Amino acid sequence: MKNAENYKILKFPGSFLWGVSTSAYQVEGGIKNDWSEWEKSAARVNSILASSSREPVSPSQGGRSGEARSKQKEKIFNLNDFICGRACDSYNRWEEDVELVKNLNCGAYRFSIEWARIEPEIGKFDEKAVEHYKMLIRKLKDCKIEPFVTLWHWTLPLWISDLGGWENKKTIEHFSDYVEKLAGSLGEDINFWITLNEPQTYTGLSYVAGTFPPQVKSLFRANKVFRNLMQAHAAVYKMLKQKFDGKAQVGISHYANYHTAYGNTLLNKALVKIMDYFRWQRFINYTEQYQDFIGFQYYHHNRIRFKLGGRLIIADIDNENKSVNDMGWEIYPEGIYPLLKYIKKYNKPIYITENGTADADDNHRAKFILDTLKNIHQAISEGVDVRGYFYWSLLDNFEWAHGWEPKFGLYAVDLKTFERRQRPSVSLYADICQNKRIMIV
Ligand code: BGC
Repeated sequence: MKNAENYKILKFPGSFLWGVSTSAYQVEGGIKNDWSEWEKSAARVNSILASSSREPVSPSQGGRSGEARSKQKEKIFNLNDFICGRACDSYNRWEEDVELVKNLNCGAYRFSIEWARIEPEIGKFDEKAVEHYKMLIRKLKDCKIEPFVTLWHWTLPLWISDLGGWENKKTIEHFSDYVEKLAGSLGEDINFWITLNEPQTYTGLSYVAGTFPPQVKSLFRANKVFRNLMQAHAAVYKMLKQKFDGKAQVGISHYANYHTAYGNTLLNKALVKIMDYFRWQRFINYTEQYQDFIGFQYYHHNRIRFKLGGRLIIADIDNENKSVNDMGWEIYPEGIYPLLKYIKKYNKPIYITENGTADADDNHRAKFILDTLKNIHQAISEGVDVRGYFYWSLLDNFEWAHGWEPKFGLYAVDLKTFERRQRPSVSLYADICQNKRIMIV
């Protein structure tokens, strides 16, 4: 049996925030927005049917390893698995969910506000929906849990998508009006605002890969969306700073994979640089002056390779024997360390606003969390200003284009009864959050 002497204790700063993350569409249920309508569209159903006979790959978030690929190959999907529907019913069970966050000893909770609920029609705000989020925030505060509020986590009210979504410059103004409404009604209780979740992932999946609504494949249109998202962020940043002065801490949650060059060739190394720039660094660079902190989200590692025939291969083709999670993503917690060292150059506080793994059986989640935190601790000890960590996710939730199959939650959710069931790694994470340290062998 191991005793305390076998362990090394790595202490985190006392002020370090420990949390968990969710997003509205993925957990709340009963939302009518661009995603809920797209899920039912013929184009979406066809894309699911087309991938039923072949491997389902998320182009932005990496391919699958050989092992996962062969497991998935002949899979026939059930179309209902791709409908979000009542999700985890968190809109009704929000108090129970706050209790779960509390039981994890978390000092912070990141969630998003659903624009389609707040403003279901142009200029008409739903006061009951505003009140809902007010109660949630109040309850969190009563439990001494700091709310990290995301204002846009990928979904749009239908009237906005009818106007052209983020392709339309007018959306910047509409987004500002929505945020102004929230600032007026809820702002006094919010210290941390995340304007946009992973704007570059959204642009890539929705307008380049075409695997998210509105299923477009056009670099030209993607660039328009990118620019409007940037301007929307800058506009609401300025508004929130002016309204709340120094009190409002405003940032963006960015996403990065750790990319390395397959075979370490010059060509592949150049591709890594290009991908890193277009997948995440460009947005940070352009909005640098409008970020009080950097929200950062890391999941996995990809090797990048250019193959003759002109196809860029991002799958981990030399990863056949390495371990992967249920999404086929290489389990590579150490990838967060070089990324954090890179981000240090921006000289801003960093919050890891998402990090997690899909692991229905909870076989590797605890080790994944420990190894990730060990690498974050290392970065902190070398001067990187990381101030918080949010595990993704509190609950098993609707995993976008992958539907209900991937299980990222510390808590499993029964999709019929909505009962939450604790996975074994809850006790590890609750212990870490309480004692603000990890113990490693
Ligand atoms: C997104 C989440 C998503 C997670 C796991 C992140 O990029 O922000 O909404 O569930 O990745 O794929």
